[in-house]
Amino acid sequence: MSLAHGHPYLAIPGPSTMPDRVLRAMHRGSPNIYEGPLVEMVAGIWPDLRAVAGTTQHVAAYIGNGHAGWEAANSNLFSRGETALVLACGQFGQSWAAHARAMGIEVQVEDFGRQSPADPARLEQILRADREHRIKAVLTTHVDTATTLRNDIPALRAAIDAAGHPALFAVDCIASMGCDEYRMDDWGVDVTVAASQKGLMTPPGLAFVWFSEAAKQRCGQGDMASPYWRWGPRAEPAEFWQYWDGTAPTHHLFGLREALTMLLHEEGLAQVWARHDALARTVWAAFEAWGAGNPAIALNVGQPDWRGRSVTAARFGGDAATRLRRWCETRAGVTLGIGLGAGTPEDPNADGALRVAHMGHVNAHMTLGVLAVMEAGLKALGIPHGKGALEAAAQVVADRA
Ligand SMILES: *Cc1c(COP(=O)(O)O)cnc(C)c1O
Repeated sequence: MSLAHGHPYLAIPGPSTMPDRVLRAMHRGSPNIYEGPLVEMVAGIWPDLRAVAGTTQHVAAYIGNGHAGWEAANSNLFSRGETALVLACGQFGQSWAAHARAMGIEVQVEDFGRQSPADPARLEQILRADREHRIKAVLTTHVDTATTLRNDIPALRAAIDAAGHPALFAVDCIASMGCDEYRMDDWGVDVTVAASQKGLMTPPGLAFVWFSEAAKQRCGQGDMASPYWRWGPRAEPAEFWQYWDGTAPTHHLFGLREALTMLLHEEGLAQVWARHDALARTVWAAFEAWGAGNPAIALNVGQPDWRGRSVTAARFGGDAATRLRRWCETRAGVTLGIGLGAGTPEDPNADGALRVAHMGHVNAHMTLGVLAVMEAGLKALGIPHGKGALEAAAQVVADRA
């Protein structure tokens, strides 16, 4: 029998579950794109976009996904043949590097593997060795959604400064914006990339690139910033159409307006970050209890400080993760994330790994519900697991709520 009929829950790390209010805000006829409510509303969205990233500097938006955000950053930061240093902590860092390489950028990848974040001391060493300042920018992920490793962005900035290197610093916050604490200006970041469909609770289709005054100076200097990708006119448009280099993504903007109101003006960003932190710890507590009864069950990232607050990667061993995902989806209406990039020689399809997303419009009952469904799946499938996971998870909620 299946008990899946009811409200389904997509607990994959993007697209995230969306507020009904965001969807309702989008449900309307086409607006005038030359004057009136849409044009007035967008003037108010830009200050909120700056606020959500913790910057008073510049933001350009694109009709596109996270990959479009990467392309925007790459094409404004570099000329063909210039060098990028990518600090990779999983599949997304590697993919940003591949994307840059395919655009003709010289890419040096420093791979920190799947279990530990980028090492500031190593970054400082690499930059000190680059005496001719070939490296034009350092690219990394705040949270790599595949490994769920979270980098210490202020420490990486401090390493660049300690090396006295002029490289700009660019951070992919696609998985963490609106979930994990992030302060672009305070942390000395030059370029931040995000997209609409994760912590920003809006359908896929918008990419955002925030950039510093120093990064702005690069615009127009490189040989890749084509009319569509140049971020300058989008950040300081003389006319409304220049925000998008064409027709505005009208309905996404009504959704985004609602989402930013909820995050910034109703709940408040500090509380949004605290909520994600509490829900992440709720998930971790359940895994610790399950793992106590079966050493094959473990979180991918050992140290809590190194874990993202929006998504958690874990191992179950064998093919238990794939069997559990299928059970949760077909029997209980919860879709969990695949073990992206978690394949090993023994487990090439990563059937032993999965990810639980807790990003965006999520609360205690949703997170406890996911964990209770997983517990039911472990029992139904006869996968050995420690006891007390749900009690431990409920205790975190009781302590933090
Ligand atoms: C989701 C994600 C991307 C890719 O975004 P798309 O919208 O799928 O192009 C890149 N980086 C990170 C960290 C992500 O979480």
